[in-house]
Formats: sequence, structure tokens, C-alpha cells
Amino acid sequence: MVWIDAKNGETHNYVCGYCGSDITSQFGYYAMDDNRSGQIAYIRICHRCGKPTFISNDGKTVPSAIYGKNIEHLPKEIEELYNEARRCFNIDAYTSVIMCCRKLLMHIACENGAEKDLAFGRYVQYLKDKGYVATPTHKLADAILTYGNIANHQLEIYTKKDATNIMLFTEAILKNIYELPSIYDELAEEKE
Ligand SMILES: [Zn+2]
Repeated sequence: MVWIDAKNGETHNYVCGYCGSDITSQFGYYAMDDNRSGQIAYIRICHRCGKPTFISNDGKTVPSAIYGKNIEHLPKEIEELYNEARRCFNIDAYTSVIMCCRKLLMHIACENGAEKDLAFGRYVQYLKDKGYVATPTHKLADAILTYGNIANHQLEIYTKKDATNIMLFTEAILKNIYELPSIYDELAEEKE
């Protein structure tokens, strides 16, 4: 995708509402006041996903930042599903957040060699047995599974606090499996 006539200008830091990345971008467009005496609004283009964000002079962004932390080095499908959970949080769809997080466990397990079409509990067991989820954090994966099962099968509506906790546990698991080992590899490569 090419943005025609977009130019470099003032630098803006923001979280992209589409892909969730922390962005520093000076590339895009700007608007001036009626007298053309100063810049009053900006459009900045995300260099990761190529999508535009409107930024007003007081720093408000449209679309607004998506909830939760951006996690680097996620495989594409897992990143998409994690961002779906984050976007659900933005619109107060807390039960959906929890259902996405449960589904993420299945994707993580399959991405790391688990067979397809297992019961959800078996995916969590796989992640524990193979050490993808470390022993002290087994209960985090169990919580995501239990909350997710209830969200899926029972008439339970979850609260913001429930979704906040489940997102926190999910972030920790994703960071440990994908982000931190990749950061280590990059550092090790630099040292060579
Ligand atoms: Zn983006």
C-alpha cells in the first residue's frame, strides 16, 4: 500500500489501534488552522500495518489504542487472535475477551506441535507437559481454561476485572513463549 503525497513531519508516539504496535511515526499528513498559522491535527501512518491514525493537537487518537500490551515476535495467527481479544476489551466485551484467550491456548499448543481437534483441556495439558507453561504458572493456564470453559458453556457474564486478570495471564504466557526467547536470540546474535 502506498500513501500518495504523505510526507515526513512532526514525530508522534502512539499505540496503533489496528495492530496494537507502539509506534513512533513522522510519516503522514497534517492539517492547519483556518489562518494557516499553525498545525492542528495529524494523520500518521503505522509502519507495521500501514493503517492511518488521526491525532489531534491534544494527543487524542482515533482509533484509540487497543487494550493491553503489545507483544513482539508472535506468529501471525496468534498475534491476530491476541489483538482480537484486546479489541474486545476496548468495547467492554469481557466474556468475548475470555473466550479469545481460551482459544489462544489451543493456537499456541498447535503452533508448538500439538495435534489438532483435541479437547481444550488436552491442549493446556500439552503446554504444561512440554514445558511451554512453566510449573509456577500452571495455575495461570488453568485459570484461562476454566474461565474460558464457563464463558463458552454457561450463562456466566464476566466483568472487567475478570477479563483484566485473564488478559494479564495470557500476556505472561505469550511473552514467555514467544517474546523473551526471541529477544534473547537477538542479543546473542549481536554478541557473536
Ligand atoms: Zn499498525
